[in-house]
Amino acid sequence: MDPSTGAVPRREPVLLMAALHAPTQASLEERYDVHRFWCAEDPSALLVRLAPSCRVVVTGGSRGIDATTMAALPRLQLVSSFGVGVDAIDLNHARQRGIVVTNTPDVLTEDVADLAIALLLASIRRIPQADRFVREGRWAQAAFGLTPSLQRRRVGIIGLGRIGLAIAQRCAAFNTDVRWYGPRPKPDCAFYRHNDPVELADWADILIAACPGGPDTRGIVSRGVLQALGPQGVFVNIARGSVVDEPALIDLLSSGKLGGAGLDVFDNEPRIDPRFFGLDNVVLHPHQGSATHSTRAAMGDLVLKNVAAWLAGDPVLTPVF
Ligand code: NAP
Repeated sequence: MDPSTGAVPRREPVLLMAALHAPTQASLEERYDVHRFWCAEDPSALLVRLAPSCRVVVTGGSRGIDATTMAALPRLQLVSSFGVGVDAIDLNHARQRGIVVTNTPDVLTEDVADLAIALLLASIRRIPQADRFVREGRWAQAAFGLTPSLQRRRVGIIGLGRIGLAIAQRCAAFNTDVRWYGPRPKPDCAFYRHNDPVELADWADILIAACPGGPDTRGIVSRGVLQALGPQGVFVNIARGSVVDEPALIDLLSSGKLGGAGLDVFDNEPRIDPRFFGLDNVVLHPHQGSATHSTRAAMGDLVLKNVAAWLAGDPVLTPVF
């Protein structure tokens, strides 16, 4: 309260699009006048109420924010996202209006790369299947059987950015040969770049998607790419469900024309295509790439720092633009 006027200072209104890491959300709610969009009985009425004052939106990587919602907030100037992928944010709309967009890069790289390797090993060595085998008491009746090896295999990575490179570095420890595909050559990169994803998949035994989602990469892992990977091939996706032709993936896994898959991300999460549940050659994981206590805390810290910096008129820490 201002002692001279008795006025209570107005807390900055913040529109929160989706539930966040609980401690981050609690800190946000302590500092600002947070409006939970997903809890609103009448979301349109909430937007009308916030339109004259709301300058800041906080969202999650999967939830993002569409152009219609941004258009309903004429004073919007900052969208701060909890996550590195910004494919769910209408970036064209934000750019045209000069809205600052921030994300949470770097702090999640190592955990997501670890998960890619975990899915790769789980798929190749059939770890979930072996776990079920032991739990169901089948071990006493028969041996589990042999599996392929990761040793001396060829790993192709689509998208050699922060996470892709961290995956490539881990792959070296497993004595694999790594190549990659991305739209732009990287002159200083030690790994060989293929000019197109089909060519990379044709060379590879294992293909890992680590590129961004969004319109530019939609279906980049096409039926042709998966066919080139072949009946012994394994596909790992820690990028986004949209980067793979999912009906083709299910079809090829069902018919044995693709060996296996380890998937952290899907179309239509969390209500994924139920045909996946009947496939024995796929490891399913519920979009948990960055979901460790320490990484989620670091991501939350970045979101809070970005919002605070922007409100103070300072440069944001991790701008997308
Ligand atoms: P990043 O550093 O921006 O790397 C993305 C890489 O993809 C860049 O090297 C980029 O090439 C490349 N790329 C862009 N367009 C491409 C295309 N059409 N085909 C192939 N490669 C393309 O981002 P990051 O931090 O590594 O994150 C990558 C993605 O991982 C995120 O966007 C997100 O979707 C996903 N992710 C998933 C989880 C999870 O929980 N599963 C967690 C975090 C992130 P240039 O270098 O030439 O620009």
